[in-house]
Amino acid sequence: MAADTDIDDWLVSEGILDARSRIEARVVLAAAGLTRAGKQRIANHKFERAREALWDGITPVCANPACLAAAGSPAKPIVHAGRDRCSICGGSNTRRAGREMVAACAKSGLERILLLGGSGNAHAELRALTTGTPIEWRIVDGRNDRPTKRQALPDLAWAQLLVVWASTELPHRVSQVYTEDRPPGLPLITVARRGVEALCQAVAHFASGPARNSG
Ligand SMILES: [Zn+2]
Repeated sequence: MAADTDIDDWLVSEGILDARSRIEARVVLAAAGLTRAGKQRIANHKFERAREALWDGITPVCANPACLAAAGSPAKPIVHAGRDRCSICGGSNTRRAGREMVAACAKSGLERILLLGGSGNAHAELRALTTGTPIEWRIVDGRNDRPTKRQALPDLAWAQLLVVWASTELPHRVSQVYTEDRPPGLPLITVARRGVEALCQAVAHFASGPARNSG
């Protein structure tokens, strides 16, 4: 006789943790022809197909209210899942902040960001978070770059937002080159906290602020 498993137990093992979400998950499985109403068990040989249909048919979101808010009203039903399965943060606060920044910038048409400061790792992470989005970066590395005013001018003309990452290694004479000749129409924000999450939150906050939406 073929081995089978209780559907609820299997869904729990997949990371679908609450009863209401498991009902949503069962609907998805039924739509894929892998179970039907009233069935308690699923044949083990169906696990692989069921897993594929399940994660393809739902929007998994963790318990964090920020993730739920960011998920909005997706086409695929929202199902409560563990953090590592969350489609918003994937267990990473940085990833969630990155998504929020991308969404806020898309809404307000903010695409060209000039960033002063931050480490090479942080820059790589920022670029990775915004790959495939309209956001472009020009980044001045406070440890290595020594731009002149002449080099700074085209960057200032290009940018829609100037971000000074003040808590990172950023010599005053480097930031000064940019802040002194800042065009009147170019907004400037200063991020006091370290970490890519904080940087993304600050840009998202600016992009969704009244200064952007009224203009
Ligand atoms: Zn999450």
